Amino acid sequence: MKQTLILLTFLFTFLLVNAQNTVIKAGHFFDARNGKMLDNQIIIVKDGKIKAVGTNLKFNKTDSIIDLSDSWVLPGLMDCHVHITANFTYRNLQMEQMFASESTALRALRGSVVAKQFLDHGFTTIKEIGNDANYATADIIKAIRYGWIQGPNIMYAGKIIAPYGGQSSGVNPEHEHIWNFEYIDADTPDEIKKAVRKNIYNGATVIKMVTGDNGIYNAEDIKAAVDEAKKYNMKVTVHASGGLAATNVISGGAAAIEHGFGLNDEQLQLMKDKGMFLVGTDFSYDNWYAYGMDAATATALNNSLVDRLKRAYKIGTPMAFGTDIIVDLPALNRVQSSLKVLETWKAAEIPASYILQTMTINAAELLGIDKERGILEANYFADIIAVKNNPIKDIEAIKTVHFVMKEGEIIRNDKE
Ligand SMILES: [Zn+2]
Repeated sequence: MKQTLILLTFLFTFLLVNAQNTVIKAGHFFDARNGKMLDNQIIIVKDGKIKAVGTNLKFNKTDSIIDLSDSWVLPGLMDCHVHITANFTYRNLQMEQMFASESTALRALRGSVVAKQFLDHGFTTIKEIGNDANYATADIIKAIRYGWIQGPNIMYAGKIIAPYGGQSSGVNPEHEHIWNFEYIDADTPDEIKKAVRKNIYNGATVIKMVTGDNGIYNAEDIKAAVDEAKKYNMKVTVHASGGLAATNVISGGAAAIEHGFGLNDEQLQLMKDKGMFLVGTDFSYDNWYAYGMDAATATALNNSLVDRLKRAYKIGTPMAFGTDIIVDLPALNRVQSSLKVLETWKAAEIPASYILQTMTINAAELLGIDKERGILEANYFADIIAVKNNPIKDIEAIKTVHFVMKEGEIIRNDKE
């Protein structure tokens, strides 16, 4: 009996020591740190992390080999502005109706499907930025952690903190507070701090505020959230278009402005000086049209985004990729609809290598996860994807994902 036990212990130790590595042969490899494509790299993965990367690495015959020598290998992509549990009818956005007709459970079910779509299309990290009913995403994150479903790594905002009324409009006084399904009313620094704590209690890992829709926050309001979030090592990101609302967000010291459709050059320069990110959610014509705009308005709005992107890039405002799509285009799923924004980036003539950085290393920096994700180097999580065509030549190549690994687990490998 004792001998059997010793033998078993020996066997177990032997297996542990000799646990297989996964070896990825990358024909082309995106060096996100330098924005360059390298050739013939080998990536060794063990226990969910990258062990080594290089050209002439030795590996064992027993290791499991993944041959991507004909592919372009990239760090897993990141989308810094998604709403996985929300979906509106094409050209008919009715937020208040959704509050009344869709339960948190239904929203969580939808969100779990959309989360998997993101992962399958190469997005190994997303920032779920709110509008998710009564904390639906907190449960999606748990379900992913329990292994019930597959999904990306999710940074999560919880309920959106906003001046009275959230982003609702026209709600009659008898239905006052219906917006609290997705928003926390917070109109003073103290109320804002309490709202931050409430979100953290319910699972938030990033704080999202809205200003300029139903009221404008002062710089002190923004700062109250920033200071409170900092205690928990979290960042504050704020929905703002431009004008006074955006100026106050910049003075208040938030980590990022979401959308920033109306930012002027002075504001973009201030953001650069402070190291503040723009998550531009740069809708294409088709996205604007899907949101219900007529053709002329959709064209004008898209043109103004092309112009704002060009100016932000020229000035050097740090940018992280975010899409914000809540209406699917006909015959396209959520990720395909979201990637329509690439048309705007292309029209603004932003180099593809920079766009890839906004989706990887820059996004990781904004999300505060740049020590563990966003580049393919030793000790980073093995969030690795491969595409069929060269994304530096044409950024649209990121739509040809055929291999996805998240934290060392193969999610998708079309060759097998
Ligand atoms: Zn949004």
